[in-house]
Amino acid sequence: MNAPDLPLRPLDAFEFDDLFVRSLSADPDTRNISRPAPRAVYSRVEPTAASTPRLLAWSDVLARSLGVARPAETGLVADVLAGSRVLPGMKPYAARYGGHQFGNWAGQLGDGRAITLGEIIDRNGLRQELQLKGAGKTPYSRHADGRAVLRSSIREFLCSEAMFHLGVPTTRALSLVTTGDGVVRDMFYDGRPATEPGAVVCRVAPSFVRFGNFEIFAAEDEADNMRALADWVIRHHYPTLGEPGPETYPAWFAEVCRRTAVMVAHWMRVGFVHGVMNTDNMSILGLTIDYGPYGWLEGFDPGWTPNTTDAQGRRYAYGQQPQIAYWNLTRLAGALTMLIENEADLHAGLELYRETFEQTWSAMLADKLGLHADTVMDGSLVSDLFSILQAEETDMTIFFRRLADIDCSEKADKDARILVLREAFYDSSALDGAHLLRLAGWLDQYAAWVRAQAEEPAARVTRMHAANPKYVLRNWMAQQAIDAATAGDASQIERLLTVLQRAYDEQPDNEDLFARRPEWARNRPGCSALSCSS
Ligand code: AMP
Ligand code: MG
Repeated sequence: MNAPDLPLRPLDAFEFDDLFVRSLSADPDTRNISRPAPRAVYSRVEPTAASTPRLLAWSDVLARSLGVARPAETGLVADVLAGSRVLPGMKPYAARYGGHQFGNWAGQLGDGRAITLGEIIDRNGLRQELQLKGAGKTPYSRHADGRAVLRSSIREFLCSEAMFHLGVPTTRALSLVTTGDGVVRDMFYDGRPATEPGAVVCRVAPSFVRFGNFEIFAAEDEADNMRALADWVIRHHYPTLGEPGPETYPAWFAEVCRRTAVMVAHWMRVGFVHGVMNTDNMSILGLTIDYGPYGWLEGFDPGWTPNTTDAQGRRYAYGQQPQIAYWNLTRLAGALTMLIENEADLHAGLELYRETFEQTWSAMLADKLGLHADTVMDGSLVSDLFSILQAEETDMTIFFRRLADIDCSEKADKDARILVLREAFYDSSALDGAHLLRLAGWLDQYAAWVRAQAEEPAARVTRMHAANPKYVLRNWMAQQAIDAATAGDASQIERLLTVLQRAYDEQPDNEDLFARRPEWARNRPGCSALSCSS
């Protein structure tokens, strides 16, 4: 069956399922007010209507894989995507979860502004949840408003789709709808709140269950919910493991560890920094979830974090991500001791995380360098490179992409090699003196490794291009699209979406998006530093 050729149907022609709602324990309390919700896996809650929903952006690629036709800018479907109307068959709910935030147990959190509408079966026969982010309060909203601002919604919409096309496991985004309502945010946390335009993103994933959904059941000693949710996740999302039970739980935990390792290795490969790796932001399916104050490395700096809330501790900086994911898995393991009595089984899963991360990351590094995996494993080629990249501000994306163009032959002109990499340096004076010598020395060594493996140069370039994206969603690019959209022009969102769908391809018309961060963006909020206020 050639799915893309099937006719697309309007969203309101779909049949919506409610497997999650049917299978798991509902909150017995039905009041939509902030409160603890003991014994609930989720709370049924209706989205809050928006005043004037208008479709601003749409992911055609995702829509095609779901079989959904692009809706009109206004009308029934735009209303549904804003939370203003609920279609027959939808049983909207907010999930209850807890989490460790910045290393500390935070108690009950839950979907404070996310509401799942229902599930549809996509064209591959997979169940997909449609979830609105920013569609109003739920019992888990605590002191907040359940809303999302346009800037953060544009960022979530674009990044979800960009990550997918980079080959990074992620939740997706189908639509971005403006609500016509103002949302008040104190963006700089400086006591000067301002009203911003509100928006709703419709996110799509097989499930949005997080580590934190299990942690809350452990913290509140809800063994029935723990078992029910684990069984549900295994049955519907890890079906190859077999019938859920004491036999399958260890294998399931190990598989969560494995998937998490692969996800984080991809983040490291493309230079993505999540920014808030709290355990409530870790997907049980190993998907990148909750795009908030994330960022992309420009200058290669393992200590960099885009999140201003984390500027002091740098807990969630680029280079910390592999360890933090491991720590988060230990929290999940702690919760799962309710199901898995033998601690050795949990340790085995954690060990699998370490092994998988190491192997995957080494293989990815090898591909990034166009070398065979065993070459990169030994010697100091990689550590030397990382130290060189950090010594002078060097753009990660440009450096690795351009490295493919280096002439590695013995008689290559050494100055020409440096010229190829020139654009990657933020300060061209870095290419004088000692740093230049160091870089040239490393390139010599690298070229020798390349020659030793006697591969066709074209084959090496192909491999490198497939591992090193040409286009990533640099913060300043997202910010320019935000500025334009705020002024009423959504065309830059569309443009970025289209360019990022072909992130590994040379796109001569879009060379302006293969560029270092411009100076104006160095310290501009939204470009280099982001607050959690969204
Ligand atoms: P985050 O770190 O952004 O993933 O959010 C942590 C918790 O705060 C989650 O429970 C969110 O649902 C909740 N939250 C964040 N922003 C809002 C908001 N504007 N309204 C209600 N809940 C929110
Ligand atoms: Mg979150």
